[in-house]
Amino acid sequence: MTKSHVIIVINAGSSSIKFSVFGEEEDPVLVFKGQIDGLHAGHTHFQAYDADGVLVGEQRWAGDEVSHADGMRQILDFLRSHQGGLNVVAVGHRVVHGGPDYTGPVRLDAEVVRRLDALTPLAPLHQPHNLAPIRMVLDMAPDLAQVACFDTSFHTAQPALAQAFALPPDITCRGVRRYGFHGLSYEYVMSALPQLDLKLAGAKVVIAHLGNGASMCAVDAGKSVASTMGFTAVEGLPMGTRSGSLDPGVILYLLDEMKMDARAIERLLYKQSGLLGVSGISSDMRSLEASSDPSAKLAIDLFVYRIGRELGSLAAALGGIDALVFTAGIGENSALIRRRACATAGWLGLELDETANEAGGPRISSRESRVSAWVVRTNEELMIARHTRRLLSAA
Ligand code: ADP
Repeated sequence: MTKSHVIIVINAGSSSIKFSVFGEEEDPVLVFKGQIDGLHAGHTHFQAYDADGVLVGEQRWAGDEVSHADGMRQILDFLRSHQGGLNVVAVGHRVVHGGPDYTGPVRLDAEVVRRLDALTPLAPLHQPHNLAPIRMVLDMAPDLAQVACFDTSFHTAQPALAQAFALPPDITCRGVRRYGFHGLSYEYVMSALPQLDLKLAGAKVVIAHLGNGASMCAVDAGKSVASTMGFTAVEGLPMGTRSGSLDPGVILYLLDEMKMDARAIERLLYKQSGLLGVSGISSDMRSLEASSDPSAKLAIDLFVYRIGRELGSLAAALGGIDALVFTAGIGENSALIRRRACATAGWLGLELDETANEAGGPRISSRESRVSAWVVRTNEELMIARHTRRLLSAA
């Protein structure tokens, strides 16, 4: 039996590695997906599912510390042993930060990894976890092709003004500027839009990626012109547990008056704020929508209000707007948030089709609406598989 050639896509976080396995077709098709959770936590759990969602592999480790490298080895071993073995031809990795230089995906070797490691101070919570499985594969299978795809690359097209902070040059020259994130999601959404309406490829579009992490991006004829996330993934909208934009004076107050240190402020901004912090109930939009508690209502009201404010700002950066697109967990699934977010865009000429919105789209604006509104399911993994395949076939 000839072995199937596959591309693995890896998305590594602080305690988990998510993986998706794609066939090598021109537009890659998903074969398996799964994850390994509880890394470094003493209760690791590996699961793999086939394309129909049927569980095809599972393992648990209790007590032992399992590292990212061990987790990556487990994933490769599973794929090489499953169904007589899959022939892994490449691994595509989601890497949060490509810095100012990586404007697109890059083939990985020790030198590129060293340059990506040097960006760790710009994304200390994500970059080291993204790089750990890459290093492990470089050690274990140095001839296996690896490609890094960055959350920042899509935004390198932004005009210099959109990337700048009003700070002195001795600070900005260290790379302190706006980068933007969720770029692989925005790129995927832009690749899907022309199938819904051909004109959208050349249009002025605002995409709202509303998940646990949330950001919005202004796209003009396929190019990012502005985004709500900047130097780090904490700027912009309130998120599940992140605060979103604050007056920088708040940080000084926390330091001077509340005597918080940098780590305590980091925990506050990344883990204890946003929907969870405001509601005191949950970071999960489903729980907040189901709650009658006034603090849950306040968290939702603030989320929607800030979407409306950012939409106005992004529409200004674009000089007008033709379409608003919702994606990610909340954007794809919450008719309530979409309805309320669209209501904030009434002044821009957006009129919702309530029935289409309840049905989940794809088009959720009325026929007469001057600005169209859409729901698109994002697929960052597929975007990484496409990039990986394209880069290798061009080599
Ligand atoms: P991540 O950023 O971790 O990838 P997701 O894109 O999966 O997150 O989005 C998670 C968010 O989507 C959670 O707040 C969850 O409550 C929300 N969500 C998922 N399904 C629904 C739904 N049916 N209604 C409202 N919110 C939903």
